[in-house]
Amino acid sequence: MFITIKNLVKEYKLRNGKILKAVDNVDLEIEKGDIYGIMGLSGAGKSTLIRLINRLEEPTEGEIYVEHVEKGEEIPVKKNVLDFDQNELRNYRKKTGMIFQHFNLLNSRSVGGNVAFPLEISGWKKEDINKRVDELLEIVGLLDKKENYPEQLSGGQKQRVAIARALANNPEILLSDEATSALDPRTTNSILDLLKDINKRFGITIILITHQMEVIRKICNKAAIMSDGKIVEQGGVHHIFAEPKNEITKEFISYV
Ligand code: ADP
Repeated sequence: MFITIKNLVKEYKLRNGKILKAVDNVDLEIEKGDIYGIMGLSGAGKSTLIRLINRLEEPTEGEIYVEHVEKGEEIPVKKNVLDFDQNELRNYRKKTGMIFQHFNLLNSRSVGGNVAFPLEISGWKKEDINKRVDELLEIVGLLDKKENYPEQLSGGQKQRVAIARALANNPEILLSDEATSALDPRTTNSILDLLKDINKRFGITIILITHQMEVIRKICNKAAIMSDGKIVEQGGVHHIFAEPKNEITKEFISYV
């Protein structure tokens, strides 16, 4: 398995002294090339789970194994992300792109400047950066907007810039945190088409969290439904839609 999550727990200590289990004993298995959807109502623990996967948060308990090929080797090795040293963590983050609901672009930088940013941080040479930025903007269909600034773009275009930026360092994993939740239905569809295309063309594994069942149905091959920090149902999307077992899943499907 490409990503294996075992008994993952994240507890927050609240001000009243009580403990809240935002992620409660989660087990997940994600294969290379999956578009894996994690769905649940607001407060279910989705953002916390995704932030644990790229170690923006440290779990209270559990393991997150990611398979990767080490330099000079051919056979992939499995490593617990939680055991990474600083260097391994930096490499892992480079190989894990992320996109957000509100795009998180730098307003003081042009479109090209935003896409160049992670490459500058990674120490790329100037002429290589320019070439790579053009390549990335071509992928997301925004080459003609290279000199524009984020405020001159529509929401869908902003998300395309964010996707180009997330792809800059050739990630193996793309994490999407409600990436289409601020967009109208038509724009949502075009962004989902782009994500699917990226998944196919570059073999990037996508983990996306959403509260929209349509998103799951449109592009995911597998999904997990979360409620109160727990995974209450998981499996192939067709199967989940055909035979939902959990009440929460049934309710979600009834909205589509
Ligand atoms: P979702 O993304 O599904 O909306 P979250 O992962 O944001 O859910 O939140 C899950 C639960 O954890 C919620 O009850 C939320 O209030 C709580 N929570 C999230 N972050 C923190 C934090 N830093 N401190 C305390 N509680 C938190």
